[in-house]
Amino acid sequence: MFVVMASAASEAEILGVKGRILAEGLTPFQHAGSDHLAIAVVGEIGARRAVLMDQLAALSGVERVDPINRPFKLTSREFHPEDTVIRVLDAVIGDGSLTMIAGPCSVESRDQLFETADAVKAAGATILRGGAFKPRTSPYAFQGLGVEALRYLAEARERTGLPVITEVMEPSQVDVVAEYADILQIGTRNMQNYSLLRDVGRVARPVMLKRGYGATVEEWLMAAEYIVSSGNPNVILCERGIRTFETYTRNTMDLAAVPLAHQLTHLPVMVDPSHATGKRWLVKPLAIGGVAVGADGVMVEVHPRPDEALSDAEQQLNLDQFRDLMAALIPVHEQVRSLYGDPSPRSTVLSGSVPSGGGLAKH
Ligand code: PEP
Ligand code: MN
Repeated sequence: MFVVMASAASEAEILGVKGRILAEGLTPFQHAGSDHLAIAVVGEIGARRAVLMDQLAALSGVERVDPINRPFKLTSREFHPEDTVIRVLDAVIGDGSLTMIAGPCSVESRDQLFETADAVKAAGATILRGGAFKPRTSPYAFQGLGVEALRYLAEARERTGLPVITEVMEPSQVDVVAEYADILQIGTRNMQNYSLLRDVGRVARPVMLKRGYGATVEEWLMAAEYIVSSGNPNVILCERGIRTFETYTRNTMDLAAVPLAHQLTHLPVMVDPSHATGKRWLVKPLAIGGVAVGADGVMVEVHPRPDEALSDAEQQLNLDQFRDLMAALIPVHEQVRSLYGDPSPRSTVLSGSVPSGGGLAKH
């Protein structure tokens, strides 16, 4: 549930509501919307719900108390109707502009990163990616350069002005990654690593949360809820493909998840057609598809010589292919904006209502 304060509510009345919530052993989360202040009541409410709603509604300065009919609360559109817009250096994510995250799967050397960074920046990328700590299926495969790669990423930021994003794989790495990187990435394999989610919820850096390859949309949003309820409101969702029975592609890119997530939450939603398809030639059509369904941006892997890459060689674009992708995406994005309307593509996609998820599969 959340408490909507009257527009004339005083500071003392707001504190009174928060104090009442805290006295119940629950946590108040404030959201200053366009015309009202809302305070979400988060925690295990259980059987107290009806009584507590009445008690809160009777407090001075309260306009009304609304339920949140979803298991995710702070990330829900009900509580927070406006889109979340995230600013990192010069990049703006979720404002209707096209965010392009590009860079190598793994940082392999300073030269490889700089060559890629210069080229993707010149072609219009807005954020630079590069793996430092790599989650590899095989323990014998290249595991990333670790802190050395983080230093190269920070140097590449100085060189290009682009903010950098890199994956953090475990709680003990959070501080060092947050020291060097502008955005922390949680990979598909860690989407339900709750201690990691709580830890990235405590740092002052935006987090890009990749969808678990076996996760439902609801599980993904609950993972985002862990981060936001730990104190970090700046979460970007990324659809990167889920595992299905199909074997031609590395994963199956769930395009419906993009407008669905936009409908259910206020968070920006990106797509990653590189990991979704695992095939270089499929990256462009699926990137176009992602933008066409309203994604706030695209993450792609780019390498100067993909065939020599130490990880994900088959799915990385070369520099020319990235330039070609940008040239294709910009007009698609413009067209999509005019189709869906301003200020953001999602606002008109959002008019229907979505029943709660988690039901039995229907065939
Ligand atoms: C990555 O983006 O480097 C990565 C490993 O992606 P995912 O977690 O989606 O597999
Ligand atoms: Mn990769």
